[in-house]
Amino acid sequence: MKSIYDIQTLEKRIRDPYQRKKLLNAYLKKALPPEECPEPASEFFQGMELVERHDSKTDGATKLVFQCVEDGGKVEAVVLRIASGRTSLCISSQIGCAADCQFCATGAMGLTRNLTADEMLDQVLLAKRLLREEGRRLRNIVIMGMGEPLHNETNLFQCLETLRDPRFFNISENHLMVSTVGIPDAMLRFREHFPAIQLALSLHSARQDIREKLMPIARFQTLKKLKAILPDLGNSMIEYLMLKDVNDSPEDLAALLDFLQGTNAHINLIQFNAHPSAKYKPVSLDARKAFGDSLKNAGFKVTLRYSLGEDIAAACGQLGEKKEIRTVSD
Ligand code: SF4
Repeated sequence: MKSIYDIQTLEKRIRDPYQRKKLLNAYLKKALPPEECPEPASEFFQGMELVERHDSKTDGATKLVFQCVEDGGKVEAVVLRIASGRTSLCISSQIGCAADCQFCATGAMGLTRNLTADEMLDQVLLAKRLLREEGRRLRNIVIMGMGEPLHNETNLFQCLETLRDPRFFNISENHLMVSTVGIPDAMLRFREHFPAIQLALSLHSARQDIREKLMPIARFQTLKKLKAILPDLGNSMIEYLMLKDVNDSPEDLAALLDFLQGTNAHINLIQFNAHPSAKYKPVSLDARKAFGDSLKNAGFKVTLRYSLGEDIAAACGQLGEKKEIRTVSD
């Protein structure tokens, strides 16, 4: 079986450029089901199947559970229907994760394996088909679901190439984002390869001792190394998950201001979503606002981020967590 995302295979199989374009438009851009696409659509292999769907009762989030055809491994992606009418999709890059961030349900699973580029792209394609049925268009894609994307660098790069390729998905680089725990060498390679794709650094603390407790990877990928590369990354997006009595004190704020000094970082202050394996507590909205105001007063752009999908374990840090949920066939 062949991959629809492989241009060499496609060119060999469909020699006429017009026919090739017609197939790709129907299959990937319009996301029609294969039976409604021109042949040889039925020859192409799909590496992922949508096996569960969980719709939030409180907001516009839907968690999608995909099963890998190759080995039965499962990953999750989240559709976010934002109040503005825009639709975003958060996809996974690995089955499990080796980074072991202490606040994250995926981290508690350990790593099973990297996803292939095709398996990442299939999450996008299958979500697009679903949204098409609702009359919605997918606008933004973020790679911040299960896994550390830069631990799967080759496949991540291939996936992003295909997403932005005008012949395939043709998604603007401004609508793509990758989030990382912070691996300086890989971040620099990413920036060289994709100058316009947003790269978000999950910082969560600007104090080395605290960060090491939250994110064991910080022992090797130190704040000093991260600070040294910030100027080479362009506009920095900083993710800061606020945890009560862990990273919300005046000392934490001072360390963050010091770390970001000289940059024009945009800081997302993220609400913590509790899950059974987490030992942390969320910070109150007032405290989060006050922390954000101090950052704003220092000249930084700040967003207080509210996660969608908490009731279906689809919010940030909750993916991979087991919950009683409804399947697509229900
Ligand atoms: S937060 Fe991201 S990098 Fe950290 S353990 Fe979870 S999935 Fe892995």
